[in-house]
Amino acid sequence: MAATRPGEGGADLLALRPERLREELLPLLADVGEPEYRARQVSGWVFDRLAVSFDEMTDLPLALRQEMDRHFVLDPLDLSVEALSRDGTVKHLWKLLDGEQVESVLIPADDRVTLCLSSQVGCALACRFCATGDFGFRRHLGVAEIVAQFRNSERIARDRFGHGIANVVYMGMGEPFANLEPVMESLSILHRGFGLGARRITVSTVGLLPGIRALALRPEPFRLAVSLHAPNHALRLRLVPVERRYPIGELFSVLQEYQAAKGRRITFEYTLIDELNDSPELARELAARLEGLDSFVNLIPYNPVPGREWEPSGRSRVLAFLGVLERLGVAAAVRQPRGRDIAAACGQLRLDVATGTDDRGMPPGAAASPGPV
Ligand code: SAH
Repeated sequence: MAATRPGEGGADLLALRPERLREELLPLLADVGEPEYRARQVSGWVFDRLAVSFDEMTDLPLALRQEMDRHFVLDPLDLSVEALSRDGTVKHLWKLLDGEQVESVLIPADDRVTLCLSSQVGCALACRFCATGDFGFRRHLGVAEIVAQFRNSERIARDRFGHGIANVVYMGMGEPFANLEPVMESLSILHRGFGLGARRITVSTVGLLPGIRALALRPEPFRLAVSLHAPNHALRLRLVPVERRYPIGELFSVLQEYQAAKGRRITFEYTLIDELNDSPELARELAARLEGLDSFVNLIPYNPVPGREWEPSGRSRVLAFLGVLERLGVAAAVRQPRGRDIAAACGQLRLDVATGTDDRGMPPGAAASPGPV
């Protein structure tokens, strides 16, 4: 067999579901004269023992480990920066085999840890308040690059916090439903390979309708979060350009269908920007928009991004907005700023590294701490 090196076409083992991974190994096992049960041993190392290198698989013959190393990539990520926040949030910047970089964040709360992971390098959707949008789109992440953020972070979480990741949210860089098939496959591998309950995985979208429809067709109870930020078309258009393509009216009719099919609560993210989308009237409009849906609203004070004139809503405006929603029977919560000293908001660590800014010099802001929904 032709030898391949990582980055030179070696097959990504983390892109495979357990049964496919075992199948993929069989020809190689036959080539080196090893019995088929080795395939199960390898999948145990990959999914249960979270191996990042074939060297770790010490109960396998050396020749087999070397042969697998020549043919497969087990870790497509290289840790490039780890930033620790005073509040316990840990952000990782990962270098990919082609030199691109993505970030993921571990957010501890009480005795649970949430992982926020990325689905693309950059993003094409250019939401006005989002640092990732400033880079534009670089490329999609492959299945293995998404799954490896989980696997590597799970190892770090066990080490650092003494227990594994409780929840995964696709709220890092990128729009998951713009990279639909790899994201859908990564859900399967996290769930079936690594045994993460579907209810513990949330996909957050700016509202790409084909993706919402595709998630509705999945039998597993994965959670859906929608980044709304405005209750009407005109205002949302100013914040989220994709509103032009998928206007809020259509979005809500697809969400109604989604809920009818799945019977599951939908989370909404609403970034509060001072004097822009945070008035009590808009809170009333939001409540009206949500009528008839089983929903939960996360209010996230805007995390200032360099080069924007906006400010986060002050405490009294945030509480007034929340108060209106609650009086109108909408389940809602304000998400606490997390990791503000390490620029843990979407895209910001990569921004700091790219511009050489000291990440401790960033303006204070809010990385949402996604609590139970
Ligand atoms: N594209 C997906 C997931 C990535 S963004 C989505 O739009 O849902 C994850 C969340 O962070 C989104 O709700 C996004 O609107 C929010 N966000 C991005 N930049 C922010 C900022 N500067 N301040 C507050 N929230 C922000």
